[in-house]
Amino acid sequence: MTNKVDAKANIRGLLLEELRELFVELGEPAYRADQVYHWITCKAVLSFDEMTNLPKTLRSKLDSIFSISLPEVVEIISDSEGTTKFALKLDDGEVIEMVLIPERDHFTLCVSTQVGCAMGCKFCLTARTGFRRNLEVNEIISQVVLAKRFLLSKGEILPLRNLVFMGMGEPLANYSNLIKALKILEDKRGFNFSRKRLTVSTVGLVDKIYNLAQDFPTALAISLHAPNDRLRQQLIPVAKKYPLEILLEAIKRFPRIKNGRTTIEYILIKNVNDSKIQAEELCKILRGLPVKVNLIPFNPHPELPFERPDAEKVREFQRVLLEHGILTTVRKSKGIEISAGCGQLRRRILESSSFPNATYCETTAWASPLS
Ligand code: SF4
Repeated sequence: MTNKVDAKANIRGLLLEELRELFVELGEPAYRADQVYHWITCKAVLSFDEMTNLPKTLRSKLDSIFSISLPEVVEIISDSEGTTKFALKLDDGEVIEMVLIPERDHFTLCVSTQVGCAMGCKFCLTARTGFRRNLEVNEIISQVVLAKRFLLSKGEILPLRNLVFMGMGEPLANYSNLIKALKILEDKRGFNFSRKRLTVSTVGLVDKIYNLAQDFPTALAISLHAPNDRLRQQLIPVAKKYPLEILLEAIKRFPRIKNGRTTIEYILIKNVNDSKIQAEELCKILRGLPVKVNLIPFNPHPELPFERPDAEKVREFQRVLLEHGILTTVRKSKGIEISAGCGQLRRRILESSSFPNATYCETTAWASPLS
């Protein structure tokens, strides 16, 4: 287990400006920092040795000061449609997940921001293992680097274009690390993700939504999952602190990136929140708000006491929303075959201490340090 106190700072968690300052302190010209930044972001390299436009002496100096390591990929599973789920082992042995989803003309990566989660949502397996710790900035960024390397190794021509902070954890509960990671990911001199393609998803931490509006207004998704406070508070315990009235007001006030709409995520659970009356109730509270609704039929798991609604019930719910003029899509539950529900792969891995069921890709060279 790595001793976090003695560990070298991981270079992937730094803004370019911070890197430049450090280089000047090290007696190196600032432009060398720009070169290194290009290597770790655009080129997604794994070692300082690969930075061939740097003098060898500088490469070994950097190697003695910084870590550049990535989490270890302990399992990769893909389903028939190409959705790929990764289990990643961090330096201290904790395990997180990320999910790479193919879309028509690009890939979307679902990024984790915490190990475990403290929000306790009743329909979520991650909630059952509790909160372990926040992810460091470099651990958030590393997921993007690994995804980029994976796509490169597969010869994929479609770009990784969308990032959704919707994986394990509540992103706004790891606020300062999230904001710094977003800044690194948006930086045009590096990863260059468009801000409207960076989506932060929250269960509704209202004070933090207002902070986000100030510090880094980006695409926003709200996990609503219920049309009234009573049911919402049963499904999402933290909702007791943030009643719908103030949450909906925060959505209304949130800056709209290029006229985009806030996404309302609504997991449809059989006989819990999927009735026609509840659909009508939802229309009522969303009336006039700049939102679109994403209906997600529940992903069943033996440890969770909920079921998936029938397809007709899902269609009926969608029909009601559409009739009220609310833009509504139904998310195809990609990844059911591969335990893509939040926390399911991690749970399985934690239960098998030595990862005996690991199904690696043909090559994991893209994720291993060069020797
Ligand atoms: S659904 Fe999201 S916020 Fe809720 S417990 Fe799971 S990871 Fe946390």
